[in-house]
Amino acid sequence: MSLKGKAAIVTGSTSGIGQGIAEALAAAGADVMLNGFGDADAIEQQRAGLERDHGVKAAYSAADMSKPDQIKAMVADAEKLLGKVDILVNNAGIQTVAAIEEFPDDRWELIQAINLSSNFYAIKAAMPGMKARNWGRIVNIASAHGLVASPYKVAYVAAKHGVVGLTKVVALETAQMNITCNAICPGFVKTPLVEGQIGDQAKANNMTEEQVVKDVILASQPSKKFVGIDELGALTVFLCGDQASSITGTSLSVDGGWTAR
Ligand code: NAD
Repeated sequence: MSLKGKAAIVTGSTSGIGQGIAEALAAAGADVMLNGFGDADAIEQQRAGLERDHGVKAAYSAADMSKPDQIKAMVADAEKLLGKVDILVNNAGIQTVAAIEEFPDDRWELIQAINLSSNFYAIKAAMPGMKARNWGRIVNIASAHGLVASPYKVAYVAAKHGVVGLTKVVALETAQMNITCNAICPGFVKTPLVEGQIGDQAKANNMTEEQVVKDVILASQPSKKFVGIDELGALTVFLCGDQASSITGTSLSVDGGWTAR
């Protein structure tokens, strides 16, 4: 599938799933704006690597997804540097694992801001251009936790359920244009975000990290294997193609059977 001539923003693409999706979109020919935190030299290497390996234009925005003004500026920068925003992948996300009575207020607020509100602000900023060109693809990286819950993840589960709801509304508002909005709901993917949880859960449950992977993390994932980042990149590319033009407002589970239970 070719996405040549399309321009994409992938939030939180300096690591993990977002990095893989940015790579997959560039490999399909799309120009890409990267976003996320990290070491400046490593990010510049990643950006230059996309241009070198795929012959696309690649830019970078350091916008903080907890700050609405910076999100608006990121979209404006992409429109300036890449000419437009055809594809928006809302991927940036963080996690905190704690019992509700101990859940830090500031982490609740930050998780809502980054995992949910950033999707709203980025879509709001990109939508006028998509409507003007009558073409757009919005892919929100939610989670299996957008559909079902687990204990100790109150802020994350609430935010991801919110992403699934927001996805449906945006899809309905754009249903008669060449714009789609979908959520991808991955099960566990081995990225720095999950590696952090393995340590946290081990402490909380007084278990070894191996036990946590087997009995806690992959307990809910019938396939008993982590989802591959490449699988999420390939699905995103498919959703951005013309053959996915009738797929909108839906939540696509990529979770090894987790939510089939
Ligand atoms: P990760 O920690 O590897 O990457 C997160 C990215 O978000 C990084 O690039 C980081 O710099 C960026 N980021 C964090 N805070 C930011 C902010 N305030 N502003 C801008 N960028 C910010 O995590 P990941 O596992 O690749 O997760 C990516 C998305 O996938 C998240 O939304 C996560 O909830 C979701 N997800 C992950 C899994 C999993 O098992 N890893 C499962 C389901 C859903």
